[in-house]
Amino acid sequence: MKDLGLSPELYDYLLQNSLREADLLRQLREETAQHRAAVMQIAPEQGQFMALLVQLLGAKRTLEIGVFTGYSSLVVAMALPEDGQVIACDVDKASTAIAQQYWEAAGVTDKIDLRLAPAIDILDQLIADGQSGSFDFAFIDADKRNYPRYFEQCLELIRPGGLIAIDNVLWAGRVVEADSEDKRTQAIRAFNQALHQDERVSLSLLPVADGLTLAMKR
Ligand code: CA
Repeated sequence: MKDLGLSPELYDYLLQNSLREADLLRQLREETAQHRAAVMQIAPEQGQFMALLVQLLGAKRTLEIGVFTGYSSLVVAMALPEDGQVIACDVDKASTAIAQQYWEAAGVTDKIDLRLAPAIDILDQLIADGQSGSFDFAFIDADKRNYPRYFEQCLELIRPGGLIAIDNVLWAGRVVEADSEDKRTQAIRAFNQALHQDERVSLSLLPVADGLTLAMKR
């Protein structure tokens, strides 16, 4: 799911006239396309957009919940200054091994602190360590049923004016299936509804790729 609502021709036009994808990012995207869970990879124009957001924020410290093969952490790390840092949380050794190869090749391993453990525990530990309010940007793209927990933890950890980006919020269009019994679809619908009412953040839901919500901490 890379082009909700755009015709293939228009999507191609968009890519051909705006995508600036580094060779390593393209190679990683092509390698990941062979992966059994290839659908979990973010779209390249989404990666470029996130890099722009990171630059706009002047971000130095970022969080990533869900690494997979590392495209989003790579694109964010490349956009960060030399002393920037991504704390990247995942539990999958095999997919993050691919990620690490590309971080190495891109020379950004010093910027990415990969932590292989449940993100809820990692984020709780960061809060316990007194790091609340010290992050500029967070990207949530992991198991959908834990989105509310991840969101609360990230909201605690980012500074006022910091941004949380949440992926797959349109869930290939399944969010409009009101009678869906799929637990993940229900979880995303409930999450979107709750966030709509959440006065702690300024909000925008963009139909980029599979739906990307931006929530700025007030
Ligand atoms: Ca995703």
